[in-house]
Amino acid sequence: MSDAAQQSGRPLVFRGGTVLTMDDASTVLTDADVLVVDDRIAAVGPKLDVPEGTQEIDATGGVVMPGMIDTHRHMWQTAMRGYGADWTLTQYFVWYYLEHGKKFRPQDIAAGNRLAAIESLDAGVTTTVDWSHNLHTIDHGEAAVDALRSVPGRFVMAYGNIQAGPWEWSADPAVRSLLERLRDAGDDMMGVQMAFDVTGDPAFPEKAAFEVARDLGIPVTTHAGVWGATNDDGIRLMHENGFMTPETTYVHASTLTRDSYQRIAATGGSISVATESECSAGQGHAPTEQVLQYGIPVSLSMDTSVWWSGDMFSAMRATLNADRMAEHMEAHLKGDTITHLRLRAQQVVEWTTRGGAHALGRDDLGSLQPGKKADVVLIKNDASPVSFPLLNPYGHVAFQAQRGDVHTVLVDGRVVKSDGKLVGIDLAPVRSEIENTIEYLRGACGEEVWQQGMFPQMPEAEAAILDNPYQYTDYVDEGKRAGGEDRVLGR
Ligand SMILES: [Zn+2]
Repeated sequence: MSDAAQQSGRPLVFRGGTVLTMDDASTVLTDADVLVVDDRIAAVGPKLDVPEGTQEIDATGGVVMPGMIDTHRHMWQTAMRGYGADWTLTQYFVWYYLEHGKKFRPQDIAAGNRLAAIESLDAGVTTTVDWSHNLHTIDHGEAAVDALRSVPGRFVMAYGNIQAGPWEWSADPAVRSLLERLRDAGDDMMGVQMAFDVTGDPAFPEKAAFEVARDLGIPVTTHAGVWGATNDDGIRLMHENGFMTPETTYVHASTLTRDSYQRIAATGGSISVATESECSAGQGHAPTEQVLQYGIPVSLSMDTSVWWSGDMFSAMRATLNADRMAEHMEAHLKGDTITHLRLRAQQVVEWTTRGGAHALGRDDLGSLQPGKKADVVLIKNDASPVSFPLLNPYGHVAFQAQRGDVHTVLVDGRVVKSDGKLVGIDLAPVRSEIENTIEYLRGACGEEVWQQGMFPQMPEAEAAILDNPYQYTDYVDEGKRAGGEDRVLGR
């Protein structure tokens, strides 16, 4: 750290901001202060008395809010930022799952993770779940963890491996040992989950992986309700076998029926809505109507920078837009007009702060209240014509602000971004390790394949891919695409 104030461990106070506490009462304070002492929020309120020597940050004209939380990001894919901008989900599966994912070396996973981790901090995302599903050797796993640890953010290593069945990689003693090490470290900067999907194969081969997770006491995160890939059968198998726990995260949960949403609601797990992804890739419509209807806890996520950005402003904006588009369209088809929107800016700000904290079982995150961890973001940009007037603070965060307006970021009480610039992070070596990875992948693919990769063609076994991209077994479910209306509409 180059920041002198932090080295001396001085307390720090944000002065005179609009404070979104995100507490149970949704308290918003204007012209208020937030005092941080060590790694905790010490006080929130107007004109606070602070200890002598406290560092002051002028928050006037800005919004002070909890650090944002992304509950599902394939951070390794940031090594190929923007490459798949025009992909469908099928093209993504073809490139990473079937053809080129295995080319990634441990240092390539690390390069993507490091860049994604830095990107998170820059955007005020203080906690990011690394849905790390290309760890096809333990060396890849170790490299992924080391890269995250090299960046002063809060992360959750969600360990996975698309190149093998979950029952296979989770049985590897080296993987188990790494998971135990992460679990037992008691490091609140690095959580651990297991990341795998349930194909719906009636033989339920994923059962063994769930048993490992249960034995180890590690939560599972799973892509559920993904059109053509996972559906109600996976949810039902999990439920019937007792693996739907409150700690479980269901990512997307788009193409499911009422039956599955009821099972999720009844068992207390949460849904990670990745709307920008769902709008573009084809998993199904973001299930915002369903989470509201069934009272399911919800967080937001960005999924992957191979298509999209890694900032939660985009997540909030996309989520409001998609929900409102659906609500309007449904009404218009009946000749009706929506006069009051069901999903409000306040809700998406909640989902990206306290919603994420709840999903991770981290009630010490996600709100600005005395005693909570000091993960804090100041949105303020006096040079920007978009910074005023600040009339509706939730609306301002969701629709007006962007990552360039993230002025100050604290993680665990430590300043990682100050006055709009990352602190103590040198991008030059990060840039060169990314360049090394791109040069290697490009060479390994060959230039023609690399160029075509932005618009991959279906390989020979086309039908099988459309039915089930998770080709761990020979199981093919004809129902994955059939009878879609109920699943599309979540009925
Ligand atoms: Zn995903």
